Amino acid sequence: MITAKARAVDGPDQAFRSAEINRRDLDTTDVLIEIKFAGICHSDIHTAHGEWGPVNYPLVPGHEIAGIVTEVGSGVTKYKVGDRVGVGCMVDSCGECENCIKGEEQYCLKGNIPTYAGVDKYGEPTQGGYSTHIVVTEDFVVRIPDNIELDAAAPLLCAGITTYSPLHHWGAGPGKKVAVVGMGGLGHMAVKIAHAMGAEVTVLSQSLSKKQDGLQFGADHYYATSDPETFEKLAGSLDLIINTVSASIDINAYFSLLKLDGTLVNVGAPPEPLPVNAFSLIGHRRSFAGSMIGGIRETQEMLDFCAEHDIVPSIEVISADQIDEAYKRVLASDVKYRFVIDTSTI
Ligand SMILES: [Zn+2]
Ligand SMILES: [Zn+2]
Repeated sequence: MITAKARAVDGPDQAFRSAEINRRDLDTTDVLIEIKFAGICHSDIHTAHGEWGPVNYPLVPGHEIAGIVTEVGSGVTKYKVGDRVGVGCMVDSCGECENCIKGEEQYCLKGNIPTYAGVDKYGEPTQGGYSTHIVVTEDFVVRIPDNIELDAAAPLLCAGITTYSPLHHWGAGPGKKVAVVGMGGLGHMAVKIAHAMGAEVTVLSQSLSKKQDGLQFGADHYYATSDPETFEKLAGSLDLIINTVSASIDINAYFSLLKLDGTLVNVGAPPEPLPVNAFSLIGHRRSFAGSMIGGIRETQEMLDFCAEHDIVPSIEVISADQIDEAYKRVLASDVKYRFVIDTSTI
């Protein structure tokens, strides 16, 4: 057993505390990663607070992990000691089902094994990246390109792939009008990536308070959704909308912005059902879709794309003692645009 230092939470209303956790001894295909940085994702907060169902505490969140390989199992072929690597939202899947064979492990028919709050194939609870070390089978490890710093790489492992995958799948590129709803951790990545793909990018944010940032990230247009004129002006004009907001919004108003055959993709997960008026879809053959992270192959492709286009998240690096405060600030939308924990402070 390998002992790692971590920051854990013991219940929905508890503060983070120092903890020691066990990582399994390396199996033949496992790599041991010394974690250098871990991003704070909104999902961490939902899970830590027990908002997405019962949680087995103590919980160590974190699924935006960047670090260095420090040991490899005897059968590992892809990585060696010293490699710069990342781990995202999942650490294993069945590997045999139709979706896994296609490289869409996130949609494994038996359920992928999440990086934290899951149970691994040995029956042990998985614990995430707010920690100094993690052991992961090499097939769920990705390589971080040399020109991306490890602190900036961390948020790409969830926020990056969550936005890259639907943009890629629904063909964001030259001649396509893409809107991003919400300018948080996910939204700011969606803007940078969609712009690099060559799309014409519009941000739809509650207010214009982050407009300067949005334009600097590559947005061509920036509108406040609190202004009813926005919906009149943009009616029927967009090919693709990526909705990163996990609060309930008037989704039908956003459908009305899509042109013929346009698609609105939800990547945020509101806790309550969204009422859909069928008329807002059938009138212009519009689609309402969802998308969840991306497969391992696509995650590597996203990292290489970001390296090639010099795209990195805008981050604020914090120490482990600041996690509770960072959670509060994320909930207050007071983050530009992703918190990343320096795990050497754990
Ligand atoms: Zn996440
Ligand atoms: Zn599978």
